[in-house]
Amino acid sequence: MQTLLVATWNTHKTKEIGQILGSGWNVRDLTTLVEAPKVEETGSTFAENAALKAVAVSKSFPGLVLADDSGLVVDALNGEPGVYSARFAGEDATDAQNRSKLIGLLKTLPAREFPGRFRCAMVVASKGEIQGSFSGTVEGMVVPFERGDHGFGYDPMFIPAGYSETFAELPSEIKNRLSHRAHALAQAVAFLQNA
Ligand code: IMP
Repeated sequence: MQTLLVATWNTHKTKEIGQILGSGWNVRDLTTLVEAPKVEETGSTFAENAALKAVAVSKSFPGLVLADDSGLVVDALNGEPGVYSARFAGEDATDAQNRSKLIGLLKTLPAREFPGRFRCAMVVASKGEIQGSFSGTVEGMVVPFERGDHGFGYDPMFIPAGYSETFAELPSEIKNRLSHRAHALAQAVAFLQNA
């Protein structure tokens, strides 16, 4: 069994990565470590932030470290919330507060649904060195309301292309096949298996 440390405090991400990877992997995250570094996400792109997290955490912990930096991009809002997805409504904002801010902004616009996408950048690092960088996207429509109880973050507001349900209404098996995270992780796994 291969062990992978995910450089995140977001247990939703860890859970999805564990589900996508399946039983051959022992997936851990920073919540299981005693002295995990708190990494400032000062980059202006998902890729820069993923690199910052993977490099910093892999300096402190042995083995392979995978960082996921991800978020929702809404064309009508010039790409917002983008890299600020987790802190859209403020530094310690909850998912519900972030969604509420996004709904408020979208409601000021004339449309009922808005083209957008989730993006994910993943970086694998060990001993402070980047081993590989990967990315994934899922296109869809962002809606100014919430539907469904599954998932996390903006899932209740995102309808993936080809579906009429939000990510929070669809079973996790479907999200984990379609998602930005699944696409990035498939490339990362192919890389790790050949490493
Ligand atoms: P990060 O931890 O800086 O990468 O921020 C990720 C944020 O983007 C999360 O807190 C969510 O708000 C949003 N996000 C990323 N991936 C997803 C997803 O799969 N579903 C819903 N929201 C997501």
